[in-house]
Amino acid sequence: MNSKTIVICGAGIAGITTAYYLLKNDNKLNVILIDKNQPLSFTTSKSGENFRDFWPQPCMMQFAAHSIRLMKDLKNEYGDDAFKMTFSGYNFVSLDKDKPVFSTPQATSESIEEIRDRATIQNNYPYLSEQVEKIVRIKNAGGMDVYAMGMLMLKEARKRGLKVLEGEVLAIRKSDTDFQIHLNTKATIHAHQLVIAAGPFINYIANMLDIQLPIENILQQKFIIPDPKNIIPPDMPFTIFADAQYLDWSAEEKDFFAAEKKYHHLLEEFPAGLHVRPDTGGIKMGWAFNTTTSKLPDWEPPTLELFPQIVLKGASRFIPQLAEYENDIPTPLIQYAGYYTRTKENYPLIGPAEMPNVFLVGALAGYGTMGACAAGQLCSKYILSDSNLPDYSRYFHPLRYQNQVLMQEINESQSDGQL
Ligand SMILES: Cc1cc2nc3c(=O)[nH]c(=O)nc-3n(C[C@H](O)[C@H](O)[C@H](O)COP(=O)(O)OP(=O)(O)OC[C@H]3O[C@@H](n4cnc5c(N)ncnc54)[C@H](O)[C@@H]3O)c2cc1C
Repeated sequence: MNSKTIVICGAGIAGITTAYYLLKNDNKLNVILIDKNQPLSFTTSKSGENFRDFWPQPCMMQFAAHSIRLMKDLKNEYGDDAFKMTFSGYNFVSLDKDKPVFSTPQATSESIEEIRDRATIQNNYPYLSEQVEKIVRIKNAGGMDVYAMGMLMLKEARKRGLKVLEGEVLAIRKSDTDFQIHLNTKATIHAHQLVIAAGPFINYIANMLDIQLPIENILQQKFIIPDPKNIIPPDMPFTIFADAQYLDWSAEEKDFFAAEKKYHHLLEEFPAGLHVRPDTGGIKMGWAFNTTTSKLPDWEPPTLELFPQIVLKGASRFIPQLAEYENDIPTPLIQYAGYYTRTKENYPLIGPAEMPNVFLVGALAGYGTMGACAAGQLCSKYILSDSNLPDYSRYFHPLRYQNQVLMQEINESQSDGQL
């Protein structure tokens, strides 16, 4: 080792942004990025690729807004086509104009606007049900191509000296002078500082150093279908149903589900948050209703049974024409699953771990695409001992659980902002 070596375990979007901001700040650093597979091929490849600055909690709002600013900087530097960042907004729709969509004071924020007039709603969004009484719109929001952004940042980091290694981290030993990272390729990599950016496997790697992180992995999924009836206009904003609902099954379906224990949940209330957006030549849909924790993440995450049918049924509540696809789902149907790796309060883990020279960037749940730039930049600041940290950093510090006052404040938050 000729100079200080920093090894980043995991080349998802969090590991790549960390490498990028480290080397952007100091291109003399020796940074090595290790991944078992191709960069960006695990959770990041499952992202719905949506971003928004509105969050129920101020720290998350500042974090997301800063990340969007950093993405805009990249867009300005590398051009509009670099990763197709578009500001098409988020529309939360509700059938009940009196029910608040967000239950926090920030709901009055300048970043959102509300439409309560049914005629305006129908005029502007004719595909929505006539029963929609309210739209709450997040203005600073939209979609992007996270693979393109990640590959761009990887390329730029490589130009500044980043080395990328393919290999699975099997074990990590610590001595007085460095860490020895053992790969399945039989190589041993030495590092002075270690960044764990392993997505759903963050605990698996942390455990190699006897560090336990308070995270859980929850399987979530999306699917894409063609839209032969052109139900969803290509410029439709990311549209989210803000109401919980019971699905409108037929009497026969209800009897069938009632008879089988494994289907009982289909008769229970489903949460708000079903989302729909146009995708190249089709429709992308998701609904993070699963709450069951997966004990060990799977490298091939399984898909949930009947997921497309459930989502189409729920979506027809606010986009009625989608009912036409329920029993005749257009093909090819592309269904994919990944994990929301999250803490209980749904704040990320970014910064130094309890062991010196070990840093974490993860638990980015369902906002890791939109939050990646701010997360990577923050992690790099800790590694570079930059004391100019943003206000939100203390809420995301991995050792926050030792601060009772802070934890009391965090635990008082009523919504975790998950979609
Ligand atoms: C269905 C779904 C939809 C989503 N939609 C959105 C969205 O619309 N907007 C948004 O902002 N976010 C969204 N997200 C969240 C976002 O995708 C994630 O937060 C983000 O991709 C996490 O990135 P990561 O780098 O932490 O993890 P990952 O992308 O999983 O990267 C971790 C990397 O570590 C590597 N690794 C793990 N263990 C080892 C090991 N032992 N050795 C070597 N390498 C290892 C893996 O191969 C992987 O490449 C969504 C997530 C899911 C699942």
